[in-house]
Amino acid sequence: MRDECSVVNPATEAVIATIPMASIDETDAAVARAKDAGPAWRAVAPTDRARLMRRFAGHVEDHAEELAQLETANVGKPIADSRDEVGMVAEVLHFYAGAVDKHRGATVPVAGGVDLTFHEPLGVVGAIVPWNFPIAITSWKVGPALATGNTIVVKPAELTPLSALRLAELALEAGVPEGVFQVVVGTGPTVGARLTEHPDVAKVAFTGSTAVGREVMRRAAGTIKRVTLELGGKSANIVFADADLERAAAAAPGSVFGNAGQDCCARSRILVERSVFDRFVALFVEAVDAWRVGDPTHPDTQMGPLASARHRQVVAGFLASGMGDPGGGTVETLVTGSVPDGPGFWFPPTVVAPAEPDWRLAREEIFGPVVAVIPFEDEADAVRLANDTPYGLAGSIWTGDGAKALRMARAVDAGNLSVNSNGSVRVQTSFGGMKQSGFGRELGLEALDAYSDVKNVFLATS
Ligand code: NDP
Repeated sequence: MRDECSVVNPATEAVIATIPMASIDETDAAVARAKDAGPAWRAVAPTDRARLMRRFAGHVEDHAEELAQLETANVGKPIADSRDEVGMVAEVLHFYAGAVDKHRGATVPVAGGVDLTFHEPLGVVGAIVPWNFPIAITSWKVGPALATGNTIVVKPAELTPLSALRLAELALEAGVPEGVFQVVVGTGPTVGARLTEHPDVAKVAFTGSTAVGREVMRRAAGTIKRVTLELGGKSANIVFADADLERAAAAAPGSVFGNAGQDCCARSRILVERSVFDRFVALFVEAVDAWRVGDPTHPDTQMGPLASARHRQVVAGFLASGMGDPGGGTVETLVTGSVPDGPGFWFPPTVVAPAEPDWRLAREEIFGPVVAVIPFEDEADAVRLANDTPYGLAGSIWTGDGAKALRMARAVDAGNLSVNSNGSVRVQTSFGGMKQSGFGRELGLEALDAYSDVKNVFLATS
């Protein structure tokens, strides 16, 4: 009997689909189809490839509401967020359609001839996608992979495969040839691990936990695969006394409770200058009280449930007795919002203030709606605390002093920082981590380099 996965709506706990799980042989068959489709795909004239990608983008736009509803039903995220994320998928495809014929090589001045560079496709790309932003993260890998002439096999998380499966159907309907973009549903240890080791897969683009990222890197070493890793984070939202505190506090719930905290860029540590700590916390708690948690299909909802019962247990573990505080001390202030009754994997927005920087909840990625608010003394202390983590993905700096903002932006070790804002991700700009948040960049023109190899050719002229 064939393995199947039951796909559950996290807001209702209803089974909304049953999907057969691919075996290793089926994964190999998908890779073989992707390999066969490669030569014809890379031979498509650049303007025609761009045109096909634009048609795919347009088809996504035509099916935007259907995709958004699917994403909300499968992930439990608010429909307004799903609509934005599907909009981003179309934008990603348009952006990389426009980039197909702009990823240029160079002519290099050398003695005795002419030297040229070409950006060559890698071949078959294996993409491993998590459950927090299933359709958006799929598009971040598919867009640049197809634009640079690769074919791609995507493995979505078994919790959330529906939108990626539909996206691949839409690609086919839009005219993207068979075998160019496939989705294979199966577990990480089977399909994911096979893609990572398969000799005909040239690159693995992975987004997920740092623990599995380490495993991906280790397995990929066997065939010297190119690897990009977008992993976890414990990002800091740094608020100075000279900031617009009302604005910083009003924006803070979205920066950590967005997607129910299941966001690698979540600002799950808020570092606040001690002289304004109490005032900021009061303003922040007011904003958290106004944060709307509930039915994700409602257009005004800002936060839905967590993705699974198992994940809710993991998140709750961080708030067990002693709050993970090695000294077993008690917490002075713990503010929790409310959640709906009844079925669903709900977890309330939770503020721990003040928290100690060495508590487990202030050090590890929780991936849920829990935030540690920590006081700091001065600029140097803020830098020390912000960098006191193995992660380095994102962060925010709130200050009215432009020079301080720039000093901080250079001093904080993270790939994506924002000043007086919490936005980390834009289609046009590169996205990725430092330290154990991974390496390689997605989005922006930089992603084109991550899906191609530079070939150097010297022509003797004498
Ligand atoms: P994982 O890293 O296990 O999952 C991410 C993806 O990797 C999924 O598609 C998963 O497949 C796949 N995978 C799992 N094991 C392997 C393997 N051995 N080889 C190849 N692929 C594999 O994350 P979890 O779902 O377990 O989440 C755990 C924690 O990771 C979260 O609480 C959070 O802290 C962090 N995380 C970070 C994300 C980010 O965006 N940076 C995204 C998701 C999680 P499948 O699930 O189908 O088995």
